[in-house]
Parts: sequence; structure tokens; C-alpha cells
Amino acid sequence: MKHNYLLLLAACLCCLLFPLHTVSADAFDDRVHGLTEVTNVRVSDTEDKVRIVVDADTPVKIKKMVLSSPDRVVVDIQNAWLAKKAKKDMNFTSPFVSRLQVAQFDPKTVRVVVHTKVGSHNYNVFTLAEGSVPGRVVLDFGNLGPDTSGARIDFPGSGEKEEPVSAKQPEQEQADAPLEKEEPSKDSKKPERKPDANAVRISKTPSGAVFQPSGKEGGGELDELTSLKGRKIVLDPGHGGNDSGAIGPTGVMEKTVTLQVALELKRLLTEEGAIVCMTRTKDTEVSPRRSKASDVEELQARCDVANTEKADIFISIHMDSFSNTEAKGTTGYYFKSGSAKSRMLADRVRQGVIDQLGTTSRGTQTCAFYVVHHTDMPATLVELAFISNPGEERLMNSKVGVMKAAQGIADGIADYFG
Ligand SMILES: [Zn+2]
Repeated sequence: MKHNYLLLLAACLCCLLFPLHTVSADAFDDRVHGLTEVTNVRVSDTEDKVRIVVDADTPVKIKKMVLSSPDRVVVDIQNAWLAKKAKKDMNFTSPFVSRLQVAQFDPKTVRVVVHTKVGSHNYNVFTLAEGSVPGRVVLDFGNLGPDTSGARIDFPGSGEKEEPVSAKQPEQEQADAPLEKEEPSKDSKKPERKPDANAVRISKTPSGAVFQPSGKEGGGELDELTSLKGRKIVLDPGHGGNDSGAIGPTGVMEKTVTLQVALELKRLLTEEGAIVCMTRTKDTEVSPRRSKASDVEELQARCDVANTEKADIFISIHMDSFSNTEAKGTTGYYFKSGSAKSRMLADRVRQGVIDQLGTTSRGTQTCAFYVVHHTDMPATLVELAFISNPGEERLMNSKVGVMKAAQGIADGIADYFG
């Protein structure tokens, strides 16, 4: 009995010490049939927290446990297999997490092991799945409350730089970066920030009035007033499909907000006689290669829509995000060597959004985002508000927030053409 017990103990110890073994590649297809594929693991490591996002192609079922010596939070994703690129074993210098391992634990379990010393109030593990949205497990470690900004007073720049994976992970693939990521050849220098006082404020022209629903009844007379008739406008709802974009404190995804705003905006603009084309109208990638597209392929696919259509303007819609949940406000971006028209477009769209949503202005700024660089016409990327800010997340998760944001962009576009 004692001998058996020792053997069992040894086996358990082995599991605890070496929990991550890889199954052989034989009969691969048979083995993964009917299992969820864990497609990707993304990590952001900021002063406030380490966020680990595990993406899967269907909703997932997890089992969570805490192990000691060393202290680890273990999440088993059941009935799942691990894509090669999602396998991870990485070390951190973060005070919250020292190591992350993701591996196939047994033929039907993907195990995520986080070596951490934080207490139960400082970590949170949850799953996300809604409708066609694939499965996702989010693991947060750090200062998770809304009031965690004690150490830092202000936010340095666009949260879009925060979405990606930390620079501490050299093995991370380009494809994990967000869509509005700067081009691969660019360095990680933050875009120049201009104080709000320097932002050119444009007062709205009376043309905004034609966007009132009652304006439709004006018929031909209004057609003369509106400057939108016949304008070709391409709307690009940021992210989509496998790429959720930033995720808010309660789990609202950037890709959902951007699509809702773009759909409402299309309705408003079409009503005014504009010819509107969208890079996506569903929760999907734009590239025909879908989730298999590289970062640049996906970004270029969005530009191709506008360039092929020979659009008059290109509007990419995003939500900002930052580790400090107090960060808030609206930013208009245009390409750093972009035209004066791009700057004007960025500025008027930003101002239109602020006038409608009542958000703080973060100014009109230059950037090196791919989609505003590789489009041939005046182009802007607007960060409507911060999805990481609980109040702004709530606002943009509401119908009124979506409608106001769309109205604001429409007003800005009308001002631009006005
Ligand atoms: Zn975004």
C-alpha cells in the first residue's frame, strides 16, 4: 500500500513539476476532431496589470485551480487542442506575473499556467462568448479595481499602442498586433501628442442640421444644402473576426462597438445621398484569407476597398484603450505625412464626435497607422472614446452612445465637405 501511495505521489509530483508535455503529432486529424482549437495567446504587460487573452475558435469550458510551491494559477481549457503558434513559455519582469506557460496538458486539455504571487483580489479569470464570437479566456493579474491609478497621473499616448503585445515578448508574432498598429518598419516611438489647447477647433457649420431625421422631408431643396450627395465614403469598422480589438472592463469588445457605429453611420450618410461602402458589415476579418491573413494582409485588404472604390474619403473607426482606466476622450488621427485634407478630415470628425458624445478632446494627432498611410484619399482613424474607461465603455455599449457617435462622425464629414 505504502509503495503504491509513493508511486502515486511521485506521479502527482511529476504532474505538478512538469505539467506541460506535448502530445505526439501522430493521427493529428483524428485526435483534434470535435475539439476546440486554441488559436492564439496574447499578452499585454503594463504597469497596472498583466492581461493574458487566450483565443479559441469556439466557446470554451474552463476549470480553474490554484497551486502552491511555486504559486500558480492554472486554467484548464477542456476539450481543446493547442495550435503551434499559441504554445508559450515566457518569463516576465512584472511584479504580478513571473512566468506563463501554455501547452497541451493531455490529449483533450490545454493548460495555462501563470506563476504569480498576487492574492485572490488581484487576479481575475473569465470567459467570453457571444453569438458568433469565438471563445476567449481572459486572465488578468494586477491592480484590477477602477481606482488603480495612484502611481501614474496621466496617460502617455494612444491606447492602440497598448493593445498589442508587450515588447518583452520577442517571440510574439506580428499577426498578434492590432489592426491600427504602426507599420512593421516603424519604431515604437509614441506619436507626438499635442495638448488639446493646440488642437484646431472647428465650429460646426449649419450643414449639421440636414442630418436630423426630419431633414429627409426636405427633398430636392435639401439636396442642395447637403454636401454629401454622391460622395463616395468608405467606412472601416476597426478589428473584427478573430481580432476583438481592445476589451473593456466588463468585456465589451472594440470590434462590436466599431461595427455598430459604422452601420448606423452608413444609414445616416446614405440617407443624405452619400455612396457608402464598408470594409466589413459583419463580425469578420476583411481579408479573404480571414484569420489566416497576416497583419499587413488584413490591413491592406481594408485599404484596397477604399482604393478600388476610388473613395473620396476613408474613415477608420476605433475605440481607444489604456491600462489606466481613467484615460478618456476622443482622438482624431491622420498620417504623419498626410495631406492637409486628411488633417482637416481628422479634425472635423473628432470635433463632431466630441460635440455629440460630450467626450474630452485629446486633439488631432499625427500617426503611422497602416490604414491611413496606405489609402490614396484623405483618411482618418478616429478613436471615439476609451473602452478601458468604465464610463466610456458603458456609454459606447449603449444604443444612445452608438447613435451619437455615428451622428458626430456624420456631422464631421458634412463639415469637411461643407
Ligand atoms: Zn482599435
